[in-house]
Amino acid sequence: MLAPLIDSHCHLNYEGLAERQDEVLANARGAGVTGFLNISTREREWRDVVATAEREGDVWATVGIHPHEADRHADLGRQVLREATDHPRVIGIGESGLDYYYDKSDRAVQRDLFRMHIDVARETGLPLVIHTRDAEDDTADILEDEMGKGAFPALIHCFTASAQFGRKVLDLGLTISLSGIVTFKNAKDLQEFAKEVPASKLLVETDSPFLAPVPHRGKTCEPAFVRHTAEFVANLRCVSTDELAATTSHNFFNLFTKAEAPA
Ligand SMILES: [Zn+2]
Ligand SMILES: [Zn+2]
Repeated sequence: MLAPLIDSHCHLNYEGLAERQDEVLANARGAGVTGFLNISTREREWRDVVATAEREGDVWATVGIHPHEADRHADLGRQVLREATDHPRVIGIGESGLDYYYDKSDRAVQRDLFRMHIDVARETGLPLVIHTRDAEDDTADILEDEMGKGAFPALIHCFTASAQFGRKVLDLGLTISLSGIVTFKNAKDLQEFAKEVPASKLLVETDSPFLAPVPHRGKTCEPAFVRHTAEFVANLRCVSTDELAATTSHNFFNLFTKAEAPA
């Protein structure tokens, strides 16, 4: 039997997966994936993302605003986000953060919304799923500043930043989630860092429909492929895939305490 794995970050309601969601979920379950965190990126998709989690017992949801969408949500009230987290299937907040690579939204607006998400994570105790790209300094500064005001649970999703940044956020208590990018040939620095993340701070994800791992690179990614990433990371860390699967699943439920682990 395949060791159960959790895909800690997927977009089941995005084009590429949404139109064949049943098949995508069946494929993943057949590959031993026993849990899915379905991630929101903008307010108008919250309802669909949560509806999938209501329908499927092994799918949970997050609510939040991706930094790309910050400009369009500049006046989203804190209370709107706060109330959306009350839903029983919503177990986390995000994805939120800073993306200075694409710069699709004003940076100051991105920072304001990021802090607002942090505030709600602190109040609710629900983990914040952080997206950060080409924004290491500001991300670290904001995290340090906000942690100083009161701790909150959080992870860096699809980690691709420097080891220096990684060590800093680990010091702040954050968890690191690795996507299929770690399997790419040119990801040598990331592979090195993947070896040093403490076992208790590690998650795996697909970020599907994006970023398919080797050997599916370039294709539409789906949650079933989280196994390739898990196998690759297990190899790097010189542990069995079973052990890595058990560790990352345990970490998932340890962090996302509102999700119930299967009996
Ligand atoms: Zn992201
Ligand atoms: Zn994502």
